[in-house]
Amino acid sequence: MAKNESGAALKPRRLRTYPKLRAMVRETSLAPEDLIYPLFVTHGKGVRRPIASMPGVFQLSIDELLAEAGEVVALGIPAVLLFGIPAAKDASGSESYARDGIIQQAIRAIRQARLDLLVITDVCLCEYTDHGHCGILNTGGLHRPAPSLPEGYLLNDQTLDAIGRVALSHAEAGADIVAPSGMIDGMVRAIRETLDRGGFSHLPVLSYAVKYASSFYGPFRDAAEGAPRFGDRRSHQMDPANAREALKEAALDVGEGADLLMVKPALPYLDVIRAVRDRFPEYPLAAYNVSGEYAMLKAAAANGWLDERQAVMEVLTGIKRAGADLIITYHAKDAVRWMGRS
Ligand SMILES: [Zn+2]
Repeated sequence: MAKNESGAALKPRRLRTYPKLRAMVRETSLAPEDLIYPLFVTHGKGVRRPIASMPGVFQLSIDELLAEAGEVVALGIPAVLLFGIPAAKDASGSESYARDGIIQQAIRAIRQARLDLLVITDVCLCEYTDHGHCGILNTGGLHRPAPSLPEGYLLNDQTLDAIGRVALSHAEAGADIVAPSGMIDGMVRAIRETLDRGGFSHLPVLSYAVKYASSFYGPFRDAAEGAPRFGDRRSHQMDPANAREALKEAALDVGEGADLLMVKPALPYLDVIRAVRDRFPEYPLAAYNVSGEYAMLKAAAANGWLDERQAVMEVLTGIKRAGADLIITYHAKDAVRWMGRS
């Protein structure tokens, strides 16, 4: 038996005998305030379209979205993250910044309903472009805008102008936080400057500072109908093998004025969450428990291979223990219902 300096036997099990005692010495706890619930908004009325690869998640028309948002408020979840499915897509993703775009309408509807809910909006073009990429592409063969860059390359600075417009249109509609997700160099600065010029210097930016080119986004692309028609996103999203580079990305976004940082996905990158937390202790850190992570647990639970409630709470607690203050998760509503039960 191991002993301490004064000769007393070390028995960690002493603190594990009773549920109340275990609760007293628990280091990490989850609360509804830790969670952000993602929602997918689509045009129409009375639409509640299930997403096959994400059981329990739906594309919602605005009337259905309001009902869902009311439920989120009642559960004590403070914020939703909105993604839009446009009526039509084009090469420049123009519905993303249209005054009557789906997200802009959704934000106004939530505001008009006077729900006590923070509205965070995803700022990117990939759901709105007909090619499914996150910005403006270098296309046109010999006449492409940047002949020194490959055909189809995602053009950085042209894309910055567009995402600045998207963020401003969300702010004007009444968004509380804008969240650029494209991993475009300079996106936080471009949005910050556009918001400041537009009279929204008070609006925080939650940057998807560290976003990996992950296979775990697959179900999301069904939900948001934003899969690239060709190619992939490896020229802008990060290589899953890199952790030091995550600190560089986070430092850049802090320097550009990000108010909150995010690591995405969560489960395969818990070490990165910890590294960003330790390097930038003064910045709130969010982790995105992405669609593929959700789908894995749902599939295993549906097959009876895992206890869903216990597995979900363990996963969310693990993400928080790794250093996340906030967790964006499709499990949010269930997790709140399960909180407080041992
Ligand atoms: Zn995108």
